Amino acid sequence: MDLPTELNLVQKNHRRVRLRFALAYPSPYMVGMSNLAVRLLYELINNKSEALCERFFFTSYRQTPKSIESGLDLTSFDVIGFSLQHEMDYTRMLDMIASAGIPPRSGGNRPVVIAGGPAVSSNPVPLLPFVDFFVIGEVEPIIDAVIEELSHGSDNLSKRMSGIPGILQNGFSAERIFAHNLDCTYHAIRQIHPVDGQGFSSTFLLEVSRGCNRGCRFCMECYTYRPRRERSLEQIATILEEGLRFTQTRKVTCISSAFFDHSHIADILALMKEKRLGFSVPSIRVTEDNDELFQLLVAGGQKTLTVAPETPSERLREILGKRFSNDQLLSVISKSREAGMASVKLYFMLGIPGETNSDLEGLKALLGKAISIGYRPPNIHITINPMIPKGNTPFQWAPIIGESEFKSRLSYFRRICSELGIKRVESMDYHWGVIQAFLSTGGAEASDLLARLLSDIENGGSGDLGSWRRVLRSLDKSFQNLYVPPSIDSDLPWEIIKETVPKSLLIREFEKAIGENYGPNIRK
Ligand code: SF4
Repeated sequence: MDLPTELNLVQKNHRRVRLRFALAYPSPYMVGMSNLAVRLLYELINNKSEALCERFFFTSYRQTPKSIESGLDLTSFDVIGFSLQHEMDYTRMLDMIASAGIPPRSGGNRPVVIAGGPAVSSNPVPLLPFVDFFVIGEVEPIIDAVIEELSHGSDNLSKRMSGIPGILQNGFSAERIFAHNLDCTYHAIRQIHPVDGQGFSSTFLLEVSRGCNRGCRFCMECYTYRPRRERSLEQIATILEEGLRFTQTRKVTCISSAFFDHSHIADILALMKEKRLGFSVPSIRVTEDNDELFQLLVAGGQKTLTVAPETPSERLREILGKRFSNDQLLSVISKSREAGMASVKLYFMLGIPGETNSDLEGLKALLGKAISIGYRPPNIHITINPMIPKGNTPFQWAPIIGESEFKSRLSYFRRICSELGIKRVESMDYHWGVIQAFLSTGGAEASDLLARLLSDIENGGSGDLGSWRRVLRSLDKSFQNLYVPPSIDSDLPWEIIKETVPKSLLIREFEKAIGENYGPNIRK
């Protein structure tokens, strides 16, 4: 793929710095470039005179990754830093290391490998044998100390890094680190990004808040990045002013888990409207039915309402801890349509604890009402995935729905959508859901499986479900028994991380959720 021209590219002389940092993102270029952490780290590290940072993206398995800036490979760098959003990044990450001719396991003669991001901040254990240092939580409060220690070479590095809060090494524990005050936390301003055109679009990424306090019991983001914090309106105005000057774009992508919970949300949208910016926002809060807000969104160019009802059943939503009624949902859908939005995207999950077929019966009425409100069936987009138990959440002890139940409930969803003329219905392959649950809650056995997967890929496997099947067969396992929820009384692998949400709270939330729906056997 030909890469686009980029703005704010930094190319430094490798001989004039003490630290050469390879920022590696195990997904393709466009996915990586939409990630604020990539832009932030690139800027923060390159701002330091003693260091340089160059980017690497995943292209395909067994292909030696090359730096965007210099075309060099990973062996020319002192440190390889991986930003890991998702458990599905793990095999691509290991392949990027191995394809550069670097031993994937820690120890020995190789560049230092450091990793951070939501997936490993929640549960780093599957990657412990492969990573020298993890950043558990948010990097900004410790970035200066980390770069300082890394620039002093590898002698005694383990000991020196052990003094930095939030840094985890194999055999030790670590506390989670987070930025207490976002107004005092650097925001990427001189963002590296592709220039508009050539099939790429350029936007300024704006983080208005971080974390979410709503406590949905399946949400890893919520429990890993607590508490919710906001950037002040004044700070956001300054960031926009400077950021737009350096990035020369008129489009803003707002990034936040709880965007609509910001206490000045209408002012932020009005500010962007006043500056005549185009903007896009994350999924909407369903309790938000303020007409003015929708008008502001439409004025900013937002054409699609994105919302995650998760289920048509209010009873199941209560179990999830995501409390809103179908009437509230329909009110949001109606107001968005009145304001002029053209399409709606709805996210659902199957396999919520306590779910039965009868819980799905309200689907037809719900979607039918969305159509009668004025959204045409071709403009309704439905995504349905299995509910995936994730580490560090109350649902880490929940089972994943069985394959046949998932398939039968999915076909029910598809049939209802088809009867209503809704054709855009998507779902992930069930087996990827099982893999995610396994890696998110896994311990040493997950590391072993990842090492076997890497060998399969090195021997020509494509890292797809075929690779997983071969490896599982070699272990006498299958997708049916890959993910086994941990017992509620057992220690969890990721308890090596301190300062997360107390386990007692997670247990309390899990027990509240399943209550009478599961019966008394949950402590088995
Ligand atoms: S509202 Fe969204 S981000 Fe917040 S806890 Fe629920 S699912 Fe997570």
